[in-house]
Amino acid sequence: MKQFVVIGLGRFGSSVATTLAESGYDVLAIDCDAEKVQSISTQVTHAVEADATDEDALKTLGVRNFDVAVVSIGDNVSANILCTLILKELNLPYVIVKAPDSLHGKVLTKVGADRIVYPERDMGARIAHNLISSNVLDYIEFAPEYGVIEILATDKMFGRTLKELEFRANFDVNVMAIKRGENLHISPGADDKILEGDKLVLMGKNDNLEKMREFGS
Ligand code: ADP
Repeated sequence: MKQFVVIGLGRFGSSVATTLAESGYDVLAIDCDAEKVQSISTQVTHAVEADATDEDALKTLGVRNFDVAVVSIGDNVSANILCTLILKELNLPYVIVKAPDSLHGKVLTKVGADRIVYPERDMGARIAHNLISSNVLDYIEFAPEYGVIEILATDKMFGRTLKELEFRANFDVNVMAIKRGENLHISPGADDKILEGDKLVLMGKNDNLEKMREFGS
């Protein structure tokens, strides 16, 4: 079972740490603020007060033995970068870092971060996609320019099969799942028919998803 170390226990880091611990994983939570450490201590496996930019302190805590590190020292840009660099020098296999913006993200990639997350930017985009189109229920970006959207089937789709609708040929968009009430039909086939009330989970390039959404509305 994977072991996680979460460094920086602001709103993001503490949410990651407690959610992992609630799901049964071993979590070491680190922050330089004693109060933050104290308030999370009963909810994770270990909570320790330490400066994440102190290489010796991180070594002593055995951080190099963990599988995944999540770094979220949002209010301290240089500490975020330095901590990421130390973790990669300690050969931690997978380091995820929260970045406030893409410039900061580029620097984090250069020092070896395996994945950068931008929660504020991504949540903003999801809310905006929700607001601008009545049939888009949710949107997740999973790579630059690519996303997954959940849309409510429109009357142009009712009673037609995926083969007839030709989403892939027309829009280069894949239907990953059809949600019908409580049922989730994963990897639907060409002969599956869309019914009123269905929700479709689609994956593709953002501009193709947009064309597809316009077709639906
Ligand atoms: P969020 O936006 O997720 O709420 P914050 O910027 O509020 O993030 O939280 C960052 C956390 O990182 C704070 O709890 C702060 O005490 C911690 N932190 C800042 N610098 C260091 C450091 N050098 N070592 C360890 N923790 C740090």
